[in-house]
Amino acid sequence: MGTDFRIVLYHPDSSLAREAASEAFERVADLENIFSDYDENSEVSRLSDAGNGEVSDELWEVLEYALDVSARSEGAFDVTVGALTKLWRKAFRQKEFPSERDIEVAKATVGYKGIKTNPRTRNVKLKNKGMRLDFGAIAKGYAVDEAMEVLRDYGIYVALVDGGGDLRVGNTPPGQKGWEIEQPDKIVNGEPTYKKAWYVNTAVATSGDTYRYLEHDGKRYSHIIDPRTGMGLTNRRIVTVTAPTCMAADAWATAASVGIKKLLTVDLREEGISIQIIEE
Ligand code: AMP
Ligand code: MG
Repeated sequence: MGTDFRIVLYHPDSSLAREAASEAFERVADLENIFSDYDENSEVSRLSDAGNGEVSDELWEVLEYALDVSARSEGAFDVTVGALTKLWRKAFRQKEFPSERDIEVAKATVGYKGIKTNPRTRNVKLKNKGMRLDFGAIAKGYAVDEAMEVLRDYGIYVALVDGGGDLRVGNTPPGQKGWEIEQPDKIVNGEPTYKKAWYVNTAVATSGDTYRYLEHDGKRYSHIIDPRTGMGLTNRRIVTVTAPTCMAADAWATAASVGIKKLLTVDLREEGISIQIIEE
C-alpha cells in the first residue's frame, strides 16, 4: 500500500508476541494483494480492468463502507477516482502537469453512483467506461484494523498498529497515560508543527500531508483529488480524525480534506468520529 507498517505490543510471553506480530504482518501483506492499485495483479486492479466481477469478502466490506462515505460526503470522497489518480500519479512522476483534455477524459469515468453491487452474488459492476477503483484513502486504515484484530485473537490488547501514520491503539501500555502520538498542531510558513497527544483504544488518521504534491505555476497540487474538478487539492489543510476504526478515520480524513458539510461532522461525532481541521 505504498507504506511501512509498524507494530508495538506488550505481552509477557515474547514468543507468542512474536508469532502474533508476524501473523498480523502476513494479514497486511494479504490485504495488499487485494487492495493495492500499484500492483496490476491485485484484486482491485483486476476488477478495474474487467469492469465487472465477484469480489472477496474483504473487498466487499471495504467497498460497502467506501460507498457509504462517498454518498454521505456527496462525492468529496469517491472510491471511483482511480482514472484521475492514475493520471496525476504519472504527472507527479514525470513532474509534468496533466493536460486539460486528459483531466476531462479521466474525470468523465468518475462517479460512485456508477457502481452496481449485488449483495447476494457479491458481484460488482463498474458502469462507466474506463472507471477505476482506488482504495488508497481507506484500505490502509482497514489493514490497520485487521492487523489489530489478529493481535486480539492472540489475547494481545496492549498494542499499537501504525500504517504510515494512520494508526490504531489498544489498551494503555504499563506505566503510561496512553499511547503518545505526534499530531499536527498548526501550519506555520507552510509547514506543520506537531504536538503530543495521548490516546487509548481508538484510531487516528491524518490526511492532506504537505509532502506529496506537484508544483505548477507557484501552486502546490496534492495527491488528494477533488473528484468534482478532477484537480489535485491546492488548499493547505491538514485533517486529523479519531474514530472507533482506522478504516473510518482514514476515509473521513480524506473526505474532510476535500471538504464536507459542518452538519455531517456533527452527525459523525455521534458515531464517535471526530474531525479536526487545521489550515494556514
Ligand atoms: P489519504 O492519504 O488517506 O488521504 O489517501 C490519498 C489517496 O487516496 C490518494 O493517493 C489516492 O490514491 C486516493 N484519493 C485521492 N483523492 C481521493 C478522493 N477524493 N476520494 C477517495 N480517494 C482519493
Ligand atoms: Mg484516508
